[in-house]
Amino acid sequence: ERMVEIERFDEEVSYEVTLRPSSWDEYIGQEKIKKNLKVFIEASRRREEALDHILFFGPPGLGKTTLANIIASEMHTNIKTTAAPMIEKAGDLAALLTNIEEGDILFIDEIHRMSPAIEEILYPAMEDFRLDIIIGSGPAAQTVKIDLPRFTLIGATTRAGMLSNPLRERFGMHFRMQFYTPEELAKIVSQASHKLEKPSKAEAAHEIARRSRGTPRIALRLLKRVRDFSEVANENEVTLERARYALDELGVNDLGFDEQDIRLLELLVSAKNKPMGLSTIGAALSEDEGTIEDVLEPYLIANGYIERTARGRIATPKCYEHFKLGGITQGLF
Ligand code: ADP
Repeated sequence: ERMVEIERFDEEVSYEVTLRPSSWDEYIGQEKIKKNLKVFIEASRRREEALDHILFFGPPGLGKTTLANIIASEMHTNIKTTAAPMIEKAGDLAALLTNIEEGDILFIDEIHRMSPAIEEILYPAMEDFRLDIIIGSGPAAQTVKIDLPRFTLIGATTRAGMLSNPLRERFGMHFRMQFYTPEELAKIVSQASHKLEKPSKAEAAHEIARRSRGTPRIALRLLKRVRDFSEVANENEVTLERARYALDELGVNDLGFDEQDIRLLELLVSAKNKPMGLSTIGAALSEDEGTIEDVLEPYLIANGYIERTARGRIATPKCYEHFKLGGITQGLF
């Protein structure tokens, strides 16, 4: 099992290296964010100053980490990447911050999971580029002040609502990531399939895009699996027929819902217009409540299939309509 894990890790790394866009040209979509960032990057480059702190929020797989890396390359600076749960002690943060150079970027993923004690240390670091570290305890305790180079903190979170106000306010720029349109995802799929040396026919790229929940990470994962089917069938390119066949085999239905989406929608439809609480849904699907809120719901809400009300989640008329027409139920119930 260890071997399998290691292999998987290797695969993940090489996939990230080859498919992650490294320039604005390759970064498809999110046009508003790109346009604004280009202006802010240009302005701070002209002033020869570090970029203001940036917060990205939105569901996983929409390109937050990728953006942070492109910003670093545009600013010609180094980037250090970590995730909030990895910063357990004040010393962990101090080690990160004292090891960076003027203008460098510190990228902290899952920033809503930062412990309050670490947040307290981060505030003066973000605002005044100063670390106040308490050494020792009791009467012998001393505060040591360390000056830091001016750096840029880029935070990413799937839950803007879980960020404390003081932390949120210390970011000079806030960007909400949008789900991608099928056209944008088709471009991402085409671009990636060229890099993977297995070009996709335009209709095949569009088919994969349409079924990827508006999310590049999912589109790329599906592309890789579809490519396997093409490989085994000795085909040099990904055709529409092969894409359709592979996606059906993978359990991704025609509207791009995966099995978990369908279970959630089925559950809500069965409640017959009665709102259902998050904990009930979690128990019924044996799924973590956080995953339901961060991963499952955003896409279904953005596309108008479910609504969040004060009393719970409810299926929309559009959702009932699809069930009636058999659209999302085909062969799955
Ligand atoms: P997040 O940090 O939001 O979870 P990532 O930045 O890790 O998402 O993106 C997931 C994958 O999707 C990356 O491997 C990247 O290659 C791809 N990707 C994300 N956004 C784009 C985009 N706008 N254009 C092309 N590829 C993208």
